Amino acid sequence: MPVPANAADSRALVGCGQTSPNERVEIVDTETLSVLPEDQIGEIWIQSPSAGTGYWEKPEITEKTFNAMTADGQGPFLRTGDLGFFEDGQLFVAGRVKDLIIVRGVNRYPQDIEQTVEECHESIQSSAAAAFSDDIDGRERLIIALEVQRSLEEDWEPVIQAIRKSVTQVHELPPDAVILVRSGSLPKTSSGKIQRHACLQGFKDDTLRVIAKWVSWEDDLPQTAPMIAASTVEQLSGKSSKAYARPTAVTTKKTRDPDVDMVEIVKRAVKAVAQERAKLLDLDTNIVVDLGLDSLERLQIAHSLENAFGGRIPEETLQEIETIREIAEALESLFGKERLISDLAPNNEDGPASPRTIAPDEYLFDQLPEYRRLKQTMMQFDMTGVPNPYFSVHQGLTRDTTTIDGKEYISFASYNYLGMSGDPDVSQSVIDAVSKYGTSVSASRLVSGEKDLHRQLEQGLADWIGVDDSIVLVGGHSTNETIIGHIVDTPDLILHDALSHNSIVQGAMLSGARRRPFPHNDWEALDAALTEQRTNYRRVLVIIEGVYSMDGDYPNLPKFIEVVKKHKCWLMVDEAHSIGTMGATGRGIGEHFGVNPTDVDIWMGTLSKSFGSCGGYIAGKKSLIEYLKYTTPGFVFSVGLSPPNTAAAIASLEVLKRHPERVTRLKEASRLFLTEAKKHGLNTGNSGDTAVVPVITGNSLHALQLSRRMFESGINVQPILYPAVEESATRLRFFINSTHTNQQILFAVDKVAQHLRKIAPEYFKNSNKVAEKVT
Ligand code: PMP
Repeated sequence: MPVPANAADSRALVGCGQTSPNERVEIVDTETLSVLPEDQIGEIWIQSPSAGTGYWEKPEITEKTFNAMTADGQGPFLRTGDLGFFEDGQLFVAGRVKDLIIVRGVNRYPQDIEQTVEECHESIQSSAAAAFSDDIDGRERLIIALEVQRSLEEDWEPVIQAIRKSVTQVHELPPDAVILVRSGSLPKTSSGKIQRHACLQGFKDDTLRVIAKWVSWEDDLPQTAPMIAASTVEQLSGKSSKAYARPTAVTTKKTRDPDVDMVEIVKRAVKAVAQERAKLLDLDTNIVVDLGLDSLERLQIAHSLENAFGGRIPEETLQEIETIREIAEALESLFGKERLISDLAPNNEDGPASPRTIAPDEYLFDQLPEYRRLKQTMMQFDMTGVPNPYFSVHQGLTRDTTTIDGKEYISFASYNYLGMSGDPDVSQSVIDAVSKYGTSVSASRLVSGEKDLHRQLEQGLADWIGVDDSIVLVGGHSTNETIIGHIVDTPDLILHDALSHNSIVQGAMLSGARRRPFPHNDWEALDAALTEQRTNYRRVLVIIEGVYSMDGDYPNLPKFIEVVKKHKCWLMVDEAHSIGTMGATGRGIGEHFGVNPTDVDIWMGTLSKSFGSCGGYIAGKKSLIEYLKYTTPGFVFSVGLSPPNTAAAIASLEVLKRHPERVTRLKEASRLFLTEAKKHGLNTGNSGDTAVVPVITGNSLHALQLSRRMFESGINVQPILYPAVEESATRLRFFINSTHTNQQILFAVDKVAQHLRKIAPEYFKNSNKVAEKVT
């Protein structure tokens, strides 16, 4: 867990770790029970002769609380129930574990939310706010209570609105209730600290001294409410059917309501994305605050409207429009109704649209706004003085080394994990296949493109993975796009990890199914979302990855299988980076966890990494594969995998079966890289013993400069910059291959640390202590 933003509120208590020979303080993750390093927040566990030894006649709770053991067997400890973290050797207390707010799988610290509330509106003078959560109608809800000075003429709606908006924006968690109470009436301790549990109790018992409130579930209509009809009536009559009068939209400047049809178009676009959250839409429904849409979902709406109007909504406008009214007004002024070109439109009975001048930025490539944005980014790049790190030309084979401009570099930028590309046996098989079959199958496999090589590869992959059958397609990215796009549709739901690869997101968007990301690797959040949503949909497809290619971490597959089975969904695992790299013999994440391969409905993988080729596969039940082979657009209407690519993958699979020691070596090399990096105080994020190790710099320029200096030291490694990842997550990403020698790894890690020390000396101030603990 990250340290709460409002850590300033926390109190420094004692020095780090061992306080006296008999005393010890550790910060422990409450879920995994592992001891956390500095700067990570968790529960404070103590060992001390002066600590109590148990509860009177309560052996079970005593065991749990007073004799707690960490995951690696350290203990016994007393669990204090306090959240805390170490910084510079000082222990800070950050609140009570039981106060942590967990809503929709998102963890938030109440004090952070309370601080946002207290600062969000000028008429909030009090500093007494309480944020807490409660299970209402089977769903955890975020409730905010705030003391305010009562005055007779006060209109509290703008204050409530401001709280909802700020909390949603800052914490990406929309409140479910906002209660304004009389000044001085929230329960507090004698020292003036808010008692959140007593506040919650007061809320439940209805004993809070309420001045004004907004409670979402009192506002809800039944799921089946005819949304469009209701909202149209309401909008035509100019009345809101909400229980309270909404304040006039904060940023709305116009006095006239936008065109009725335009509003209808916006509502349809919003409804298509917000689905069950868009129960009642009116002109002032705010898609951020009221519907709680995340930034990706808002972009999805913007894109569908852009498609509908055949134009672009400028970035600055996108930032400003949040209510249905604002969106409709913006569209009206940008495009005018006559510009509408899609079926999102209501029937236009006014006859054909009048002709309009086509602007240059609508048809000249060099004038397109997106092209101009790209050029601007490239210009900013140039200004850093660091040469463009993209599209470097490699003059030969890339394995542990590569050749650029005639010079040899150690390479950590390619995922030739097992050295299959360039392996003599693999290359010879390709030569033989080309001699026999040529370089292309020159047709879709369905109609004349089928070769015996194809079935050999597909059955080989299926047998190796442990399922009935598989299908191979010409690209990894296009496999995800076309398969996901094909097997689910509008009545369905896709739940995918928040850090999913672009091909998964693209496929999900293509499918037309409702798409929702769940927090990274959080199977409990997935479970909660499915508990709430499963029955609203026909099919639900859950998508995770075997190894996440930016962070090098992996999911708890058995838990995901359990959750997916429980809710009768499909589980798809993208093994692009785990096949060939995980498990004793390289069979992937399934082998790593020892699960039954048939417990995963859809295994997806790419041929471009451990199989030294190009393409993608889907493996699973016979019925699934048969259906896909006759119906998947990207297979049926696309050429079959080429003979050289098919032969390369077949040969790589054979080499892998004969040489499992390549997998063992890859793991050794990866582990060496990770432990060395930690020893050197480098921030490797969540990387967990896989062939992907990031070195996070948290600064795009530093990442760019670092990759350049590495290059100058003879090492090729790619920077990952904003906006590919958040600025705080910018990094160099190292792909480890089985062909790397220990010497190459030690040299590379040493160089990273050396260069980083010069580029960003402050980097090591925080990470040194972590490194000492880890080694
Ligand atoms: N899935 C994941 C997780 C990926 O990282 C990638 C990119 N390497 C793909 C799919 C697409 O694979 P390919 O590059 O072989 O098209």
